[in-house]
Amino acid sequence: MALKSVFDSSVIRAEFDKAGINNRFIPLIWKYVIQNPDCDWEDIPSLPSSAYTLLRAKFKASTSVVHSVFESNDGVTTKLLIKLQNGAFVESVIMRYDSSLGKLNGKPRPGGPRSTLCVSSQVGCKMGCTFCATGTMGFKNNLSSGEIVEQLVHASRLSTIRNIVFMGMGEPLNNYSSLVDAIRVMTASPFQISPRKITVSTVGIIHAINKLHNDVPNLNLAVSLHAPVQDIRCQIMPAARAFPLEKLMNALQEYQKKSQQKIFIEYIMLDGVNDEEQHAHQLGKLLEPFQVVVNLIPFNPIGSLSQFITSTNQKVTRFQKILRDIYDIRTTVRKEMGQDISGACGQLVVNLPDKRSISNAAPLTDIEDIRRQ
Ligand code: SAH
Ligand code: SF4
Repeated sequence: MALKSVFDSSVIRAEFDKAGINNRFIPLIWKYVIQNPDCDWEDIPSLPSSAYTLLRAKFKASTSVVHSVFESNDGVTTKLLIKLQNGAFVESVIMRYDSSLGKLNGKPRPGGPRSTLCVSSQVGCKMGCTFCATGTMGFKNNLSSGEIVEQLVHASRLSTIRNIVFMGMGEPLNNYSSLVDAIRVMTASPFQISPRKITVSTVGIIHAINKLHNDVPNLNLAVSLHAPVQDIRCQIMPAARAFPLEKLMNALQEYQKKSQQKIFIEYIMLDGVNDEEQHAHQLGKLLEPFQVVVNLIPFNPIGSLSQFITSTNQKVTRFQKILRDIYDIRTTVRKEMGQDISGACGQLVVNLPDKRSISNAAPLTDIEDIRRQ
């Protein structure tokens, strides 16, 4: 039987319980592994002897390996190409904000510079959004919670990670139990990442949104809306048929009532499809009952097959202005970084190993900064 990731919390907890070993040793083991990537189980001090036997028999310190690391020329973005135990690849992207200065609005940032990690939750994705390279790959498999956490472990060795965004490959809410387990690990000792610094981006899986707040409170929810009306949404996102806009908005209404937090709305700008003035007005009206931040995402064309064209800056600005000026909705435009390394989520693995293709827009408007304003 393949060894499990030591970061697979439900597996290790169950095994420790079965063997009568106290669970309090688990975060100590994690801490040691994070700091000592190549350690043997015997190196970890002060565990009960039955824990060593169990670890040797059933667990690996890491089931995934960093296959390659790509640095962007400006040093701001680092992409990790990670090989999983089953041979599949996923990617994680580290984005360093204020890496040289550690400043916010020109003043020293409390706590110094910090990085955001974009993680993957699945190999491929079954939602089939027509503009997305991951979507065109189809679905290969879910990541285990251990494999999700291992992305953070690998990245933590390169940079101090303060924020996590689930905007890499896959639809996180289609891998719900692994997602929830992984977030519970990330927010507990020794990682201690605040749930408010974790953003889950979803195409809008209604039944999962309905339980998310109860299972992991205080997260940031980002919804890939991409269209203000059902028929445009269906054209570009087949999942919209299963999760109709009206029902999705009702679920978001309930979510916001419970969470009392802003919801982030992602909106990819596709020329002539969803970027006209009328769409901005429709979106403004649709979002009127909500506390939201809209993030307009310039479309990144995915190879020559793409049927879409990126909206001009002029159209993006006009769209933003309508949302801001008429509907008073905080609206940002996503910056793209690290494009020289395809330094963004969801694309590199499509052409692995030697061809690097064009990437999604990176999730690069920093949620933390938005929340402060
Ligand atoms: N499945 C989740 C999270 C992963 S995709 C979701 O869809 O929300 C992360 C973000 O990248 C989503 O907002 C997605 O719509 C966007 N995206 C996908 N393909 C893109 C492309 N070609 N250009 C720009 N953004 C893209
Ligand atoms: Fe899946 Fe998100 Fe890509 Fe849609 S945009 S296919 S939900 S990864």
